[in-house]
Amino acid sequence: MSRYVISLGGNALGNNAEEQKKLLKYVALAIYPLIEMNHDIVIVHGNGPQVGMINLAFSESSSTPMMPFAECGAMSQGYIGFHIQNAIQNIMLERHIKRPISTVVTQVLVDEKDPAFQHPSKPIGAFYSREYATELEEKYGYTMFEDAGRGYRRVIASPKPVDIIEKESILSLLNDKHIVIAAGGGGIPVIIKDGGLIGVDAVIDKDHASAKMAEIIGADELFILTAVENVFINYNTPEQKALTSVTLKELDEYLMHDHFKKGSMLPKIEACMNFVRATNKPAVIAQLEKAVEAFKQKSGTIIHP
Ligand code: ADP
Ligand code: MG
Repeated sequence: MSRYVISLGGNALGNNAEEQKKLLKYVALAIYPLIEMNHDIVIVHGNGPQVGMINLAFSESSSTPMMPFAECGAMSQGYIGFHIQNAIQNIMLERHIKRPISTVVTQVLVDEKDPAFQHPSKPIGAFYSREYATELEEKYGYTMFEDAGRGYRRVIASPKPVDIIEKESILSLLNDKHIVIAAGGGGIPVIIKDGGLIGVDAVIDKDHASAKMAEIIGADELFILTAVENVFINYNTPEQKALTSVTLKELDEYLMHDHFKKGSMLPKIEACMNFVRATNKPAVIAQLEKAVEAFKQKSGTIIHP
């Protein structure tokens, strides 16, 4: 029996509630063999489009109160967690298997002094006119940014995860054989202030949060499921080549030559390298549709120490 962290990308969730429910059936089917084998499983998921929708719904409506970004993140964890629980429970009912499954609303500690807070980089929410953007800056202290001629958008920081506040809860649930859904959307970012924890307006990269989770819970393997079958070097060029098995040393070399795109493949590579370096255990980046093969290390890119 092994312990796995499985990280799901945005494509596993679709663009609205109906689509999400449908797509998660396939995710549940892919994960089912591991559930049946009684492995310990923590599922981490993205929430970019979902938290964007929630945030937008509150900020566009004059009849709802201001909703801080951390609270929007918590809502997205709840609603995506509900759909993942429901999809897995239905597969288990169909196959007459019983295992408890729980979603943990997860806070992830970040460092107030993380340099990312000085350079907010993640655009969220709608596009606004220059006048309205200035108003928002003055009223709420937002950082607004001109986004490629399309208008002004709010940008927030993307600090690195330092610790998982609910780690003891997650470990207890795993020891009781629960399938656990946690750190959705990279977790709700919190900092320590005056001896307490408070939510901050930021987004933690879900790939980095998955790697931190895998390290903290002592996972035997980290699986990052995404839209491509492999990590490629010379991606999207005639020299493109799929990597099937790669070491940290080889990846260092590829990193120096910018083979992985910032904001998409690079955070996955960095996150996997952090986990592999910290634990000496392997990490796999694979396609969601090939998850069953990837869990047997027969598909995807395996990153070795
Ligand atoms: P997720 O929602 O799973 O986090 P992302 O879109 O953020 O997915 O990242 C995966 C995407 O990264 C792939 O679909 C691919 O388009 C892109 N990508 C960039 N560089 C590479 C590379 N070197 N090898 C493979 N995919 C790459
Ligand atoms: Mg991504």
